[in-house]
Amino acid sequence: MSLLDLIFPKRCVVCHEIGSYLCRKEKKKIRQASPFCPVCLKGAVGGTTHERCKGKLSLDGLICLFDYSSPIKEIIHELKYRFVKDLVGTLEDGIKDAKILNQIDFSTFTLVPIPLATGRKNWRGFNQAEILGELITRRLKINSNPEILRKTKETKPQAKLPRKERLRQVSGTFRVTGNISGQGFIVFDDVWTTGATIKAAAAALKRRGAVKVWGLALASSHGVWRRGRDSNPR
Ligand SMILES: [Zn+2]
Ligand SMILES: [Zn+2]
Repeated sequence: MSLLDLIFPKRCVVCHEIGSYLCRKEKKKIRQASPFCPVCLKGAVGGTTHERCKGKLSLDGLICLFDYSSPIKEIIHELKYRFVKDLVGTLEDGIKDAKILNQIDFSTFTLVPIPLATGRKNWRGFNQAEILGELITRRLKINSNPEILRKTKETKPQAKLPRKERLRQVSGTFRVTGNISGQGFIVFDDVWTTGATIKAAAAALKRRGAVKVWGLALASSHGVWRRGRDSNPR
């Protein structure tokens, strides 16, 4: 044990138990999300958008890896503010085991992380989406290109805004750079809540000629909410 560990011992991000950033008990609670259609939000095989739900600028499918519940919620939150290698490692293990990533052939796709506004990137010191996106690109053996999507205006942090405001704010916030005609993309974000950000990015890419756009989020609050409701029947 180093001196640093004695002064600042590793504590579980959920229960604060000393020893590691995520105790064994919490690690067992990580749940893989069940796939759903990004348009109607109902169950869909492999997350592929239902044929009847497809529109010209809509997502072709969506993969959400985990439920946005404890301990994934705490891990993602922690990584927003500081880089913790052990926690990144836990996510990487989960990504390796995610069979849903094998269902579709993504080998010709390029991963595009949702860009943060520059001000926020500097304040945090790193772009979390880029780092977490790297875990995905390694797993799928595909390339990432963070230069394709640019934010066109400064937006307030999403979490602080009511839903209606969030949906309004993201429309038209992305600009696409370069010639992307005929290509396939995976738009990556840490959390799918309303889906507004990923959908706006997909629409921007499709307007510029992308043929296939999938969304990929580490976690989704969709299933969590649904399960919560189902477990409390009226
Ligand atoms: Zn714990
Ligand atoms: Zn649908």
